[in-house]
Amino acid sequence: MYDCIIIGSGPSGMTCALYLKRAGKNILVLEKSMPGGQMVITTNVENYPGFSHIDGASLATSMFQQITSLGVEVRFEEVISCDLKNNIKVIKTDKNQYECKTLYIATGASSRLLNVDGEKRLTSKGVSYCATCDGALYKDKIVAVVGGGNSSLEDCLYLSNVAKKIYLIHRRDEFRGDKVLIDRITDLKEQGKIEFVLNSQVVEVLGDDKVTGIKVLNKIFSNTQIIEVDALFVAIGRTPDTAIFEGLEFDDAGYIKVDSNKNTNIKGVFCGGDVSNTHLRQIVTACGDGATASLSINEYLTKH
Ligand code: NAP
Repeated sequence: MYDCIIIGSGPSGMTCALYLKRAGKNILVLEKSMPGGQMVITTNVENYPGFSHIDGASLATSMFQQITSLGVEVRFEEVISCDLKNNIKVIKTDKNQYECKTLYIATGASSRLLNVDGEKRLTSKGVSYCATCDGALYKDKIVAVVGGGNSSLEDCLYLSNVAKKIYLIHRRDEFRGDKVLIDRITDLKEQGKIEFVLNSQVVEVLGDDKVTGIKVLNKIFSNTQIIEVDALFVAIGRTPDTAIFEGLEFDDAGYIKVDSNKNTNIKGVFCGGDVSNTHLRQIVTACGDGATASLSINEYLTKH
């Protein structure tokens, strides 16, 4: 029986683990893929205090080493169901079943799909959701990036060091990313490295066994054009990973509702980071959520 099981080893889960382990709790972290969550696919982190510049994978590795050197137990298993009805929570994975007094949900979010023809068929054959993972495959090639948030702008910056040319396709004429990134992207546009395709939507990914182009609809003029590209990087935000949880309250966008102490509507179940209905989804806020939750979990364990 664990005092707490933490699902997810992104910054929120790892911070919660760090605090609970230091408080002497018996905890287990369950992770279905690799530690770090979305940090791993972030090229440049420039807004995490203490580091003027660090790549996300290095930050993830440091956090992971920090918790494992303290003796935190991490198991690489995928959670398939959770029974949260009783005081003792039962967590089933693809390999085992565990019991715990408290659960911290830090499952984060997954890439949103465009849901257009050709996208699924050509995923990993030119369609990618991770420029830092797959960008190197397109050295001196022509690529497109879809989106207008920080992720898409960062993807363009990363790809500008690899690809010959980048089309940045956005459904509006204004980017929602940070000004500092917009300025850098605009510089690259002026250098001819990036072409903006605004007020436009990718409506089809073209190619038989690999991407050869995209069909793009201009929403103002209602005309379509075909742009020849070797890859399409989709960076249109994320959706919360909540499929395995029943009985929790969600907001309209599907994020798990929490109070300011990271309590969910179920006693003994806490949640934080990108999967929760937080205002800001950053590494630093995810860490803050993990720390806040650890305090609430400690208090709960003292009383129960
Ligand atoms: P985001 O900020 O939600 O941006 C998603 C973008 O994709 C928006 O521009 C949106 O257009 C567009 N979009 C959404 N659905 C679409 C669809 N079906 N078709 C076409 N376009 C679509 O997501 P994100 O860029 O992944 O960032 C997520 C969070 O992580 C944000 O809070 C961001 O600041 C943070 N982040 C921070 C950093 C950093 O600070 N270094 C790096 C990466 C991410 P509209 O603008 O029209 O809605």
